[in-house]
Parts: sequence; structure tokens; C-alpha cells
Amino acid sequence: MRDLADWTRLAAQLTPGSVVPCAPLSALTTLRIGGPAGLVCRVHNVDQAREFQAFAARHDLACERLGGGSNVLADDAGFPGLILKVETHDFERRGDTVRAGAGLPFDHLIATTLREGLVGLEFASGIPGTLGGAVVGNAGCYGHEIGEFVLEATVLRPDGRVVVVGPDAFGFAYRDSALKSTRAVVLDVRPPAGRSLAGSRRRQGHARRRRRGLPRPCEHHRQPRRGDQRRRPAPRRAHADGRPGAFPDRPRAGGPASRPR
Ligand SMILES: Cc1cc2nc3c(=O)[nH]c(=O)nc-3n(C[C@H](O)[C@H](O)[C@H](O)COP(=O)(O)OP(=O)(O)OC[C@H]3O[C@@H](n4cnc5c(N)ncnc54)[C@H](O)[C@@H]3O)c2cc1C
Repeated sequence: MRDLADWTRLAAQLTPGSVVPCAPLSALTTLRIGGPAGLVCRVHNVDQAREFQAFAARHDLACERLGGGSNVLADDAGFPGLILKVETHDFERRGDTVRAGAGLPFDHLIATTLREGLVGLEFASGIPGTLGGAVVGNAGCYGHEIGEFVLEATVLRPDGRVVVVGPDAFGFAYRDSALKSTRAVVLDVRPPAGRSLAGSRRRQGHARRRRRGLPRPCEHHRQPRRGDQRRRPAPRRAHADGRPGAFPDRPRAGGPASRPR
């Protein structure tokens, strides 16, 4: 069992200023629970992520990833290992998409894309935590999930390789992704934003329809309608005694023979 002096000695071997020995997890989680973690390493870039992960492997330390701590129940006994607290905050616009650091607070990312005149991610406004945490847990609400929108991500794999992975590697499911089990550290993410989002949603809709063998929606569905065409049609004619007439297209219980005349 290592004590504060041991953790401090280990911390001294790492990039100064980014590692805190015996930091309480309660300060890093939304529920404000959790005892001390051996080393909390703040990851600001790919090189630091590599350095910290390799250090954990070399010293045979357990290694956990942490974003905003909004979906974590930390143990009161603490964590006798190394926490990679992802704080990659870079943001770069690329046409109608963005590349964003996984450590960006999700709400901050949404506000930034809106300021840039890009729209699309605001369905998730209010979900606490970071972009990386949202991707790993496939966070969502109001019928949408972040997994619908992620194009690719840069991840650090447990074997130390940094790779850019596409949708095939994410394995998104309800509030789940393959990134949880592969234990990769997500460093940055490319979610589409802006005009492309509408396009990508439409493309996904078409792909879903193709998979189910359904036809593409007709072009006229996207045209503005004159009046409300979904209204129930009026009866063709009333009966002589004042009863409303039959809807000729509607099947009736008992079949056509029971149709009122
Ligand atoms: C008040 C409240 C409301 C919420 N509302 C919603 C909601 O509407 N919809 C919803 O889906 N969730 C909701 N959540 C849950 C939570 O906000 C989300 O799951 C969020 O996306 C977690 O992000 P985080 O950065 O806090 O992740 P953390 O809690 O820090 O981590 C969660 C998991 O992801 C892993 N992880 C985090 N970052 C990385 C990374 N960069 N690389 C690899 N692994 C990583 C961690 O190891 C951990 O396993 C809510 C939580 C709270 C407290």
C-alpha cells in the first residue's frame, strides 16, 4: 500500500504541473464522492496521454479515464492508481464540421459551435460532462444520441498507439459504446455541425430505409404544403336522414356487406 510520500515520489517523475498526488476524487465528480486517487494526471495533449499511460504500465499501476465526472460513482476508499483526467480543449472548425478536444465541456462545445454559426448538437444542451464522456457513454436525450453524429475520433489505445477511428470502431448502443471495453482514451472527436448535420441526418434516414427495404421518401414531402393535407377528409355525401356518409376508402368491421347504405 503506497502512502503520500510514495505517490509524491512517483509524481516527481512526470511532467511537472500536470500531476497531483493523492487528489480527492470527490473534487472531480459531480456527486462529490470518492477518496484519494494515487495520481491524478491532467491530459492536455496526445504526448502527455502517451507519457502517463506508459508510466502507469511501467509501474504496474491501474489506470482509469475520467472526463467531467458526472457519470462516475467513485469509491470512498479512493483509487490506488493513476487517473487520466482528459482536458484536451482544442477546437478547430473544418468547413461544416469541427474537431474538438474530448475534454471540452459538452455544453461549452455546443455554445462554441453556435457562436460559429453551426447548428446541430444543441439537442444535447444541458447534459453535464465532457465531449469524450458523452461519446464513450453515447449520451443523449430527446430521441437523439451523440453516436448518431460522430464521424471519427483520435484515441490512445492501451498498447500505446494513437489512432484515428471511424464509426465502425465505436460500436454505439443505448448509453454504451465499444470504447468502454477497449479502454481507449478518447482525445479528440469530429462531430459534424452546421449545414452538414441536416444532410447527415437525411443520409442516415435514407440508409435506415434502405436497410429495411423501404423506398426513399418522395421529394414532395420536403416541399412546403399549401394548407394542411393531413386533415381528415369530409364525408362524400350525407344520408337523407342526416347521418354522415361513409368514407369509401375505409375498411369497416364486418367487411363491405355491413357498410351503411
Ligand atoms: C444532472 C445530470 C443529468 C444528466 N443527464 C443526462 C442525459 O440527459 N443524458 C445522458 O445521456 N446522460 C446524462 N447524464 C449522465 C452524464 O452527464 C453523461 O453520461 C456524460 O456524457 C458523462 O460525461 P463525463 O465527461 O462527465 O464522463 P465521466 O463521468 O467522467 O466518465 C464516464 C465514463 O466515461 C469514461 N470517459 C470519460 N471521458 C473519457 C475519455 N476522454 N476517454 C475515454 N473514456 C472516457 C470514464 O472512464 C467513465 O467510464 C446526466 C448526469 C447528471 C449528473
